[in-house]
Amino acid sequence: MNITAPRGTKDILPEDTAKWQYLENITRKIFSSYNFKEIRTPLFEATELFQRGIGEATDIVEKEMYTFEDKGGRSITLRPEGTASVVRSFLENKIYGQAQPTKYFYIGSMFRYERPQAGRYREFHQLGVEVLGSDNPAIDAEIIALGLQLLEELGLDNLELHLNSVGCPKCRAEYREKLINYFKPYLEELCSDCQDRYDRNPLRILDCKVDRGKEFMNNAPKIYEELCEECEDDFDQVKEFLDLLDIDYILDANLVRGLDYYTKTAFEVIYKGLGAQDTIFGGGRYDGLAEEVGGRDIPGIGFAMGMERILLTLEEQGIELPIDNSIDLFITTIGEKANKEAFKYLHKLRKAGLKVEMDYLGRSVKSQMKAADRNNANYSIILGEDELEKGVATIRNMTSGEQIEIKLENLVEEMEKRID
Ligand SMILES: [Zn+2]
Ligand SMILES: [Zn+2]
Repeated sequence: MNITAPRGTKDILPEDTAKWQYLENITRKIFSSYNFKEIRTPLFEATELFQRGIGEATDIVEKEMYTFEDKGGRSITLRPEGTASVVRSFLENKIYGQAQPTKYFYIGSMFRYERPQAGRYREFHQLGVEVLGSDNPAIDAEIIALGLQLLEELGLDNLELHLNSVGCPKCRAEYREKLINYFKPYLEELCSDCQDRYDRNPLRILDCKVDRGKEFMNNAPKIYEELCEECEDDFDQVKEFLDLLDIDYILDANLVRGLDYYTKTAFEVIYKGLGAQDTIFGGGRYDGLAEEVGGRDIPGIGFAMGMERILLTLEEQGIELPIDNSIDLFITTIGEKANKEAFKYLHKLRKAGLKVEMDYLGRSVKSQMKAADRNNANYSIILGEDELEKGVATIRNMTSGEQIEIKLENLVEEMEKRID
């Protein structure tokens, strides 16, 4: 038998987990300072949660959903994204009955069923935030600031914020008509996908990668210039709050989101580094989603970031995360008696909170010293019959080579002094 990991999945081995943990830790730290609380929803949900509408609205999601029937005959889907589950949980647990807004974040695996290709996995990871129960434009600016701060603290600072408003069902319906009229004379010049979209979802023509750059695309009516009074006022306020935080943005009328429940603010953050131009995260308002999921009118906004994307961008840009792989002390032993004594010290030191390791294989002193190096030990000591008899040991600083003799009984305190 030769069992391998399922297609489209990947092991994250310890040399990489350190990076993932760093990313997760800094995420938790920054999100906490904005008073976001972590929510953990199931990895799988009833398929209906993600398959609400039929037709264009869900065409992309549905095609790629990791859906199967369980033994009870239920249709189950591994979550393709975080938002729907968070909204479902918010409604199911009646969180709307508490003081609002509700500010949640999540970190975890998401799934899609598609042909695996370079850099695209069937299990991938996202972190994101959702704020439910408030339509205050300050929240829109707050989550943008939050996402930017995370990336900046990771060392990515050439960030470009693209901002748009996709309006509400009312003003979008009027805009849609304008767009249909505008594109009518150019129908033949659109790609075949957009010719399909023309009737069903003309907004999606604006973010078509094939048609981008064609002359007539530039003069298409811009949605942020066609907003109703309420949406316009909200958009002005979002911009004002961003100004208050000194966050620059580029108005981007082509930043549209295909689904009906998206409303008002839409944004995307693009990283521009050495030879790179990557969308690192995007999000926006979805004031119509809770209605679709559970028949309640609750405003919401959020963003999601692909964690693989972030780590890859850091790597491509040569940004080293400050990861400490070192241990405090490696105990090298000579002889069985010393080995047993060391084992006791190992335990005491670990209980004192120090990172300590020793040899388990009865290797030569030379091999043990190599092991100390391999473990990135900051200090080492050698314990043999002599040391035990005299009750002393020599602590060696592995970086400077400096050595100091201490009383063995003081080993824990002496080590604690050196590691703060
Ligand atoms: Zn509107
Ligand atoms: Zn097109």
